[in-house]
Amino acid sequence: MKNQIRKVLIVGGGSAGWMTAAYLHQALNREGMPPRVEVTLVESPDIPRISVGEATIPSMRHLLAVIGIDELDFMKATDATFKQSIKYVNWEHNNNTFYHHPFGRNRRQPIDYAGLEWLASDRKIPFMETCSPQPIICEMGKSPLMMGKWDMGAPINYAYHMNAQKFADYLRDFIVPKGVNHIYANVTDIDMRDNGWIKTVHTDQAHQLEADLFVDCTGFRAKLIEEKMGVGFEDCSQWLLCDRAIAMHVPYDEHYPGMVRPYTTATALSNGWVWDIPMQSRRSLGYVHSSQYISEEDALKELLAYQGPGSEALEARTVHFKVGRREANWKGNCIAIGLSGGFIEPLESTGLYLSDLGAVMLAEHFPQTDEYMDAMAFRYNRILSNRFYEVLDFINLHYCLTKRTDTAFWREVQKPERITERLKAKFEYWKMKPPSQTDFEDQLYPGQNQQNSNPSVHMGDKRVPIDTAGLWNHESYECIMYGMHFDCQAYQDRFGEDRPKLNVHPQILHRLQQAHAKLPPHHVWLQQFVGMKNYPGNKTPKGWV
Ligand code: FAD
Repeated sequence: MKNQIRKVLIVGGGSAGWMTAAYLHQALNREGMPPRVEVTLVESPDIPRISVGEATIPSMRHLLAVIGIDELDFMKATDATFKQSIKYVNWEHNNNTFYHHPFGRNRRQPIDYAGLEWLASDRKIPFMETCSPQPIICEMGKSPLMMGKWDMGAPINYAYHMNAQKFADYLRDFIVPKGVNHIYANVTDIDMRDNGWIKTVHTDQAHQLEADLFVDCTGFRAKLIEEKMGVGFEDCSQWLLCDRAIAMHVPYDEHYPGMVRPYTTATALSNGWVWDIPMQSRRSLGYVHSSQYISEEDALKELLAYQGPGSEALEARTVHFKVGRREANWKGNCIAIGLSGGFIEPLESTGLYLSDLGAVMLAEHFPQTDEYMDAMAFRYNRILSNRFYEVLDFINLHYCLTKRTDTAFWREVQKPERITERLKAKFEYWKMKPPSQTDFEDQLYPGQNQQNSNPSVHMGDKRVPIDTAGLWNHESYECIMYGMHFDCQAYQDRFGEDRPKLNVHPQILHRLQQAHAKLPPHHVWLQQFVGMKNYPGNKTPKGWV
């Protein structure tokens, strides 16, 4: 018999739970139409959220727009700042060199030869600066928005840095008055139907919560998908060695650096890297490292040295994590979104993105009746697993292109067994030509293994994962590869030692002139529009004071 799918129960009230609740409620219950779903979220009053997840990517703006959130309101409530790029410091060599991975790049018309042109040049200008003004806009410390009405042509792409705890609270306070039911209680037991689907969830407050669909947002605990549905976890730590982060907040009241950088900085240290995320009232730092290679004590010392004098008094906490994915994000009537569904270390800020994707895809594949459940689950799992491996390869890329040999950790991450098979196939191919758009149309590279190494775990799907460039296309690959001088020696042989200078495209130069004149310093914009405090010691250029 066909049963309509109407009731959704989300277990867990971290960022993933509230993003999913808000998105499903707003995307499926369109104004002027009869409500399609009733969403309830139950969260534990005792189990804290993970409370990291402070840097985002631009997809967050789509999520906020669908939910109906006003940007300024969101930024005020979550201590948010703009993020235009990630600046990678000391990744290729341990010598204070850096490159940016910005959110925007000018696409050359009618043909995009940016990679090849740069390889054929003297390479004195960093690759990304030849195809995007954004690295320099970031180094100027500029906001991506003007003080007045925008008159600079195409907009500048950006995302946010924000307080993770405040973000979940903000979503809750926004969406509960609009009709999402909210319960504070611990889920203790789960009853099953005869067909292996979840029937009822019991709490320590004597609730018996029935639903048609159950979303597991219980974080690394994976209370429903793992404990009850028995879906296994595919460990990916072979390719990404880090498993801990020491996190701390550096308040501006005592440690204001004189500006708010409009980008995240990811600085490679001895056995991992540190995130440096600026918000309106503090910076967030976290040393992501491998416990196999460095003790917690030494990692903390290194993090304090990174921050500098006065940092010993700051509170630090260690977060443990495991890199890998749920063998199926959706089984029966249970869907895992957020950390319960898998995690890849935060180098490119993809944690919240994967929750965002999980929620958006659930709305898109929302089954009208239980008859459609398996078909929707099949497609959903395929999309989510493709994207997971896309992210895994891309993060893997940052490590394995290093030329650092100063510690055992950096020597280890370059070894062939630490590079995914898919990425190796891409590298071989991209030694012959730089990446281009069509490489991702039907991604299978010469020599790539076409057999799924473990078909049983992917719910019967025997195909290898496909990189659909859903998140990162050839432009992002080029950015990291040429930011870290991938295979440049081979092109040296092809183009010779005496290569010509490359002229930066006039459009980029024009954009930089405009940015210099028209874009305010980031902190000036934040003070004006979202009420950031005016900390003493601001390095504000003349004309903007
Ligand atoms: P949690 O925040 O752990 O929430 C779990 C929820 O489940 C809580 O509300 C808890 O109370 C509830 N719960 C658990 N058990 C029960 C139960 N039995 N009954 C009721 N409720 C229960 N992502 C980014 O996008 N950018 C970043 O910069 C970034 N940095 C990160 C750094 C680190 C070190 C880590 C580990 C992650 C990072 N992430 C980042 C990922 C991001 O933190 C998570 O994707 C995001 O916070 C979602 O977490 P969650 O909601 O799945 O889990």
